[in-house]
Amino acid sequence: MAKLLEGKPLAEKIKEEIKSEVSSLKKKPVLASIQVGDNAGAEAYVKSQKKTAEGLGIEYQFHKLNQDISEMSLIEFIQKLNADKSVNGIIIQMPLPSQIDYKKISQFILPEKDVEGMHPANIGKIVFGKAKILPCTPAAVMELLNSTGVNLYGKEVVVVGHSEIVGKPLSLLLLDKFATVTICHIGTSGAGKLEEHVRKAEVLIVAVGKAGLIKGEWVKEGAIVIDVGINRVGDKIVGDVEFEAAEKRAAYITPVPGGVGPLTVTM
Ligand code: NDP
Repeated sequence: MAKLLEGKPLAEKIKEEIKSEVSSLKKKPVLASIQVGDNAGAEAYVKSQKKTAEGLGIEYQFHKLNQDISEMSLIEFIQKLNADKSVNGIIIQMPLPSQIDYKKISQFILPEKDVEGMHPANIGKIVFGKAKILPCTPAAVMELLNSTGVNLYGKEVVVVGHSEIVGKPLSLLLLDKFATVTICHIGTSGAGKLEEHVRKAEVLIVAVGKAGLIKGEWVKEGAIVIDVGINRVGDKIVGDVEFEAAEKRAAYITPVPGGVGPLTVTM
């Protein structure tokens, strides 16, 4: 039976480190958060981020902008926050209304204030192994892997999902640890080769958003399984991996909820 890789205890440990670092600063750091229009999902994130930030001694400066704001006006607002020396970090809440292209506007956040690590300059630094600000979910996955004490050098690591916020940057971070990284995506599934790749994974990371995509019987005996997926099935939240069957084969597995999620906000 696999050992559970829970995010909460790790998040608490990291929060203690941040708290002590923040308390040694002369001035309280300020995180500016921008929400555009009304959205229940974004409001839930804001609530959780505010609570976390304030608990760490970070000021959470919330800005709610009109649903129909133009891209240009939003960019001007971001530029005002860039120029404001009292603001240390900027975060834009998702989802955004259809007239706003996140990829475009996120490029206007100063790279050193880009707490989500999604500015092309920050993503680019991952390629050079010099990133200081990492996208939060890949950073959370690396923390979970690190907590197992398993050395990734030469390990067969399979990442399922190649999104810009999870799979792609994560694959580069793993490569930097000298893992042998295979990245699977819709083309892999389309070619009927997903099972074949998953079966050889000593470390399996899944970030797709499809409940039950990874069959428990595909999981290699003794593997580390990190399930990033979040899916609502009836009144339950589940990941992308069939948990009960996978748990019997893996050495370590993240629960969903309670695995990657609690660490993401902290990172
Ligand atoms: P995206 O939808 O952006 O990416 C999903 C990826 O899965 C794409 O690369 C897609 O490929 C690939 N994919 C889709 N279907 C298949 C398939 N049948 N076989 C193999 N690959 C497939 O999602 P995100 O990366 O943003 O998020 C992924 C999941 O992780 C979601 O459930 C999300 O809710 C969750 N998540 C959880 C977080 C946490 O903190 N726990 C944080 C962020 C996300 P293609 O693009 O080619 O179709």
